[in-house]
Amino acid sequence: MRFDYDPENIFAKILRGEIPNKTVLETEHTLAFEDIRPQAPVHVLVIPKGAYVSQDHFARDATDAEILDFNRTVAKLCETIGVEEGFRTISNARGHGVQEVPHFHMHILGGRPLGRMLA
Ligand code: C5P
Repeated sequence: MRFDYDPENIFAKILRGEIPNKTVLETEHTLAFEDIRPQAPVHVLVIPKGAYVSQDHFARDATDAEILDFNRTVAKLCETIGVEEGFRTISNARGHGVQEVPHFHMHILGGRPLGRMLA
């Protein structure tokens, strides 16, 4: 699989500081910020700072340090953003996944019962 990263995507612009964001947590390799169109009381996006298009791209090509940092950031967020009662993570990819922004991101949703949903 070939992944072509578009450096003009909106999250790349956020990472370069060209577009503002409401940062929740930032580490060496990872940024977490509030989604501008929240779909639950808690809706945080977690993105790697590296240029990865989608979760499969990240899982295949990121360094161990980037992957560990991303996952530990998710864990830290789950202790601090108000999702003790439960949460859902979603990562949309490509056309069938209806991915709007082509920079890998994980949605963390919570703060209310989310209902059953697989698709
Ligand atoms: O997973 P998908 O690519 O569809 O989601 C992109 C998400 O990025 C949307 O939930 C949208 O609200 C969010 N977004 C954002 N800030 C922007 C542009 C999009 O939080 N400037």
